[in-house]
Amino acid sequence: MMYPVRESIRQILSELPQDVKLVAVSKFHPNEYIEAAYQEGQRIFGESREQELAKKVESLPKDIQWHFIGHLQTNKVKYIAPYISMIEAVDSLKLLKEIDKQAAKCGRKIDVLLELHLAKEETKSGFDLDECRELLARGEWKQLQNIQIRGLMMMASFVDDESQIRKEMMQAADFFDEVKAQYFQDDPLFNERSWGMSHDYKIAIECHSTMVRIGTSIFGPRVY
Ligand SMILES: *Cc1c(COP(=O)(O)O)cnc(C)c1O
Repeated sequence: MMYPVRESIRQILSELPQDVKLVAVSKFHPNEYIEAAYQEGQRIFGESREQELAKKVESLPKDIQWHFIGHLQTNKVKYIAPYISMIEAVDSLKLLKEIDKQAAKCGRKIDVLLELHLAKEETKSGFDLDECRELLARGEWKQLQNIQIRGLMMMASFVDDESQIRKEMMQAADFFDEVKAQYFQDDPLFNERSWGMSHDYKIAIECHSTMVRIGTSIFGPRVY
């Protein structure tokens, strides 16, 4: 039995404000599920493993915009650079430089988000606020002509305590405003705040998210 993807995505799309984009997180789900969402008009899909993504890209419609949402190893950048629409979880200057280099080879400019680490869990990756400030202050990123920093991404702590989730998301939203004012005031393309997943996207919308990444609530539980 196929999970009722079309009904679920229709429901979620009807709840999202006009100005919040949906990234349908399709990792570990089969092509049929992606096609079902596609038939509902969905065009942005998120994946977190390079090989799985490569297989899907080959066989699915060409107008899908693929977002890489997981931790990306620098040695994998070259494989996705030809087609990736956005790399959401940039967590080091080294990775940023590698994306720039590979994008140049493809004659492309690749959209990226800087990933913040604000959650309590040590396992999550990303910059803490001071690391991110330091990266931007160093200014090397300004020389990278083949990347476009589109905004910030983060994952809140995986907890039941709604106030904790809200606190972290608002911290990210405030930090976005700080960075926007200091470095991107004249750059209308720095405009994305990617937070909110299946269990917390409604909170994320209240905390100024522009892009929610939802998997389970659309496609059902993942079978690893
Ligand atoms: C898997 C994943 C999601 C989606 O999580 P769900 O709980 O299934 O909605 C969102 N963001 C990132 C970075 C992920 O790895």
